[in-house]
Amino acid sequence: MQGAVLHGPRDVRYEDRAEPTIVEPTDALISLSATCICGSDLWPYRGFNPVTAPAPMGHEYCGIVEDVGRDVRSIRRGQFVVGSFFASDNTCPHCHAGFQTSCQHRQPVVGAQAPRLRVPLADGTLVPTDDVPHADVVPSMLALSDVMGTGWFAADAANVRPGATVVVVGDGAVGLLAALSAKQLGAARIIVMSRHDSRQRLAREFGATDIVAERGDEGVERIKELTRGVGADSVLECVGTQESMMQAISSTRPGGSVAYVGVPHGVSLDGADLFFRHVRLFGGPAPVRRYLPRLIDLVLNGTINPGKVFDLTLPLASVAEGYRAMDERRAIKTMLRVA
Ligand SMILES: [Zn+2]
Repeated sequence: MQGAVLHGPRDVRYEDRAEPTIVEPTDALISLSATCICGSDLWPYRGFNPVTAPAPMGHEYCGIVEDVGRDVRSIRRGQFVVGSFFASDNTCPHCHAGFQTSCQHRQPVVGAQAPRLRVPLADGTLVPTDDVPHADVVPSMLALSDVMGTGWFAADAANVRPGATVVVVGDGAVGLLAALSAKQLGAARIIVMSRHDSRQRLAREFGATDIVAERGDEGVERIKELTRGVGADSVLECVGTQESMMQAISSTRPGGSVAYVGVPHGVSLDGADLFFRHVRLFGGPAPVRRYLPRLIDLVLNGTINPGKVFDLTLPLASVAEGYRAMDERRAIKTMLRVA
């Protein structure tokens, strides 16, 4: 089997990889319907996380179950399934509380930029659909595996309520889908911070009512102007830098909530500064598994179309070009065709 392997900064290769097999009796093997590149894959790609050994890439997936281990009960061969980037048992106390990405038995799912994938803890991790969905909805199903679930968590964690004023910091796939999620949860005003035309258009299509192109202090100033000096009820931080985090915290009204779902890189917060702001901070790796059943329904009944974030589709063999396009911000998100 061939798949994507990261060898070092900006060096992704499509090359031979070991064929995945059932290792544990709770595993499933999936034949992927499509796969994709995540914004978070760009951190190691750009050398922010050191690559010490060739690393199989990809953690977003949906597809058909090819085989299951002998202890798997609810997942069967031939089903179409979606799962999250962390495998979880869905039975431990943290899973029951809805935080499957903190599962006591969590395992990362790695190597999804390939035709086939091993998924651990299949019963807890995978959500099957009743029927194999039409090819048209595969991009949206694939988006549920990470970016849509993460955007939804951002809106949920920031306590978005009907009528709320929401700010989204970040116009990557997660930020855009956070705007869509805020809309679904009834936000009245959704201000997206973006300076890219194509992303602004998609943000508006997903429900943004205002766009702010300024960043940093100027960006915060604009948010204050747009909210009569008050700030937003809910701010969704979808980047993970010091600047984006401070922009988010400073845009929030006293008593408001900041959700942070961008993986932080070099972010540090000052306790005394936070103390006097009166804002809630809540975030982390999104418990996508909690939201999958609801989001699958919203896709299948046509309410949401998160697959629109894929503005570039390439064959899996061209995965290196997919990374380049996202790195250079020519593409929001790259889908990779398998087969
Ligand atoms: Zn668990």
